[in-house]
Amino acid sequence: MNFAYGTHEVRVVFGAGTLMSLPDELERCGLRKVMLLTTPRHSPDRDNVLTLLGARMAGEFSGARLHVPLEVVAEARRALDHFAPESLLAFGGGSAIGLGKALAFETKLPLAAIATTYSGSEMTAVWGNSDGTVKRTFRNTEVAPKLVLYDPDLTLGLSPAVSAASGMNAIAHCVEAEYSPEYGPVTSSFAMEGLLRLSASLPIVVAAPDNADARSEALFGAHLAGRALDMTSMGLEHKLAHIMGGTFGLNHAEAHAALVPWVTAWNAPAAPEAMERIAAALGAAAAAEGLLDLSRRLGIRSLGDLGFTAEGIPRATELAIAMTFPNPRPVDADGVRWILERAITG
Ligand code: NAD
Repeated sequence: MNFAYGTHEVRVVFGAGTLMSLPDELERCGLRKVMLLTTPRHSPDRDNVLTLLGARMAGEFSGARLHVPLEVVAEARRALDHFAPESLLAFGGGSAIGLGKALAFETKLPLAAIATTYSGSEMTAVWGNSDGTVKRTFRNTEVAPKLVLYDPDLTLGLSPAVSAASGMNAIAHCVEAEYSPEYGPVTSSFAMEGLLRLSASLPIVVAAPDNADARSEALFGAHLAGRALDMTSMGLEHKLAHIMGGTFGLNHAEAHAALVPWVTAWNAPAAPEAMERIAAALGAAAAAEGLLDLSRRLGIRSLGDLGFTAEGIPRATELAIAMTFPNPRPVDADGVRWILERAITG
């Protein structure tokens, strides 16, 4: 057996009630004078975070937004210069964490994350930002959170729709890790265990959002999926989701959720062994069928329902084929059209 993989140093703390350990964990990691980054959502949990930070708190920026627009990074940077923190703490989903990475890259400040969706972003050294016309992604281990805290209790208020979509986003990480150039037994154990746990728990989360065990399983699945993404390179599915978000303004997680069964169907002939493993984890006869069945059970909306129309296909295709990325099947315009036409109707 031969394998190679890279990973970055991070302390991960997982469990119901873990939020209470925030002060100790920050201390242990040497994270002082913290600037809090959130999306504009004032939940009781955020108030708890403020209380727990106490005198460690340097200030807050609560304007994190989907796709990390460059103007939001600039606004947050002005706040950061004013507060002069020594570390950053993102509290929320991929939007708050993505902003944290962009600021960590600019300032070299260490980042911690309390993850409250299933995006998996907290485990990765990857981030993206959008200038309003395109979304670009970057990778640098220096921006990856040094401390990640998962408290499934914080996810009990996450709506079924956001839970389902961000869970399918994490599933897309697992799927693309399985046919990535870096695929190996270690990356695959993260990806397949993540896929198993997410696909088993998400239908329960959607039907019974306050089921604490299912929430815990889904968050653990998302953790594993984020790790799988971090150790591998993503393919066409992730590129198309970024085009849908960055150029057509669709919600990131919902775009992934609508795309992943169709990209998988198109890639299937070029990655038969990966497809067998994915199908087995889903308990389905074929990978794409299993993903489509899961997305229907979760009430996932199609690209058409999200507002993407056939008129956008030529531009999306042009953008996709101009990019360079690894994918098991060589990407051409006919293939991208085939995928988008199907994902529009779902
Ligand atoms: P999000 O962070 O925008 O959160 C979605 C919504 O849910 C927001 O309105 C937020 O305020 C709310 N929310 C978050 N947690 C909640 C909770 N526990 N209870 C109630 N409401 C809650 O969405 P997302 O899907 O987590 O992240 C999307 C962003 O993450 C995109 O910009 C995407 O590019 C990025 N992303 C990055 C990676 C990576 O590895 N770099 C991976 C996945 C996604």
